[in-house]
Amino acid sequence: MRAYSDTASPHSYEIWFTYVAGAKPFLNDAVKNALKSGEKLTEEQIEALYDAHLSTVRLGVQAERAGTGMLSEIEQVVAMIDDALGSTTRYGASLQAISEDLAAPQERSGLRDILEALVAATREVAANNRSLEMRLRDSRGEIEALREALERVRVETLTDPLTGISNRKHFEEMLISATISARANESPLSLVVIDIDHFKRFNDTYGHLTGDQVLRLVSTAMGEQVQGQATLARFGGEEFAMILPGLSREQAFEVAEKVRRNVEARELMKRSTGESLGRITVSLGVAVLRRHETATSLLDRADTCMYRAKGSGRNRTVTDLDPAEAAALSDAA
Ligand code: GH3
Ligand code: MG
Ligand code: MG
Repeated sequence: MRAYSDTASPHSYEIWFTYVAGAKPFLNDAVKNALKSGEKLTEEQIEALYDAHLSTVRLGVQAERAGTGMLSEIEQVVAMIDDALGSTTRYGASLQAISEDLAAPQERSGLRDILEALVAATREVAANNRSLEMRLRDSRGEIEALREALERVRVETLTDPLTGISNRKHFEEMLISATISARANESPLSLVVIDIDHFKRFNDTYGHLTGDQVLRLVSTAMGEQVQGQATLARFGGEEFAMILPGLSREQAFEVAEKVRRNVEARELMKRSTGESLGRITVSLGVAVLRRHETATSLLDRADTCMYRAKGSGRNRTVTDLDPAEAAALSDAA
């Protein structure tokens, strides 16, 4: 830690701990990247890494609250069950006493006393059961509401609030699990990376809020082209990805091109004035998982393809068919 950063804050401890544990490969990559310059990590860099890869503070507080509520409900339910068990035991004891009384020969009046005791004990246990049932019903509702609150927090930690698709954390988790499944099932896995063209210019001209509308538009265009197992994500400011399990390079290229044409076809309007804002375009990179490749390397290669699309004029899709493979294909043809 001392060698690579000049802060010993709790966040910095958490980052280095996670780094050494290797639990978040994307964090490790980001750290290695940041260290490329040869300089130690600054406090700002540590904070940025923390925000991007580890921070769940706000949602942690909400989850904590729902969890505490759940615990206190459970304690109350356990106390009720204890009460119910006590009252059943007492009822059992009364029945036992009554049956012993009945064993002896009885006068008519004695019988009536026994019967009255039986009725009273039964009423008491029935009343107890009713109130227990009501309290349990309340608790059930309360626990259900807390369970839903926890589920909402869980979904929120995985979702990008602007577009409603997966955020970077979820994207990374899904990409890692998709590579594991693809390998296990020996099925293809394609990744598409999408970046908006000249988006800075658009923001500078029309403002950040209108820019945000464009981000929503791109995520809608992506959503219209995929079904089933695909994961859609906004993993950077204006960078998107589609994880496409089971899709070959050609199929992923088709999907990417549909998204590209869909975005290009939409004429943007300023909502308030109806003024036309022209059109925007995106550049896309497609990579297919290779044998023995990690999720981070797959993402790197898709990203490289996307930059090649930028370099060769933007508003296009470039795939990772590397020169060796391309040569083999043309030999076969
Ligand atoms: P290129 O075609 O090479 O990708 O050019 P570019 O201008 O899109 O690329 P650059 O990386 O220079 O700029 C990205 C811009 O994206 C910077 C910023 O204005 C914008 N941006 C990033 N995140 C957000 C966001 O959350 N909302 C909005 N409105 N704009 C964003
Ligand atoms: Mg970009
Ligand atoms: Mg861009």
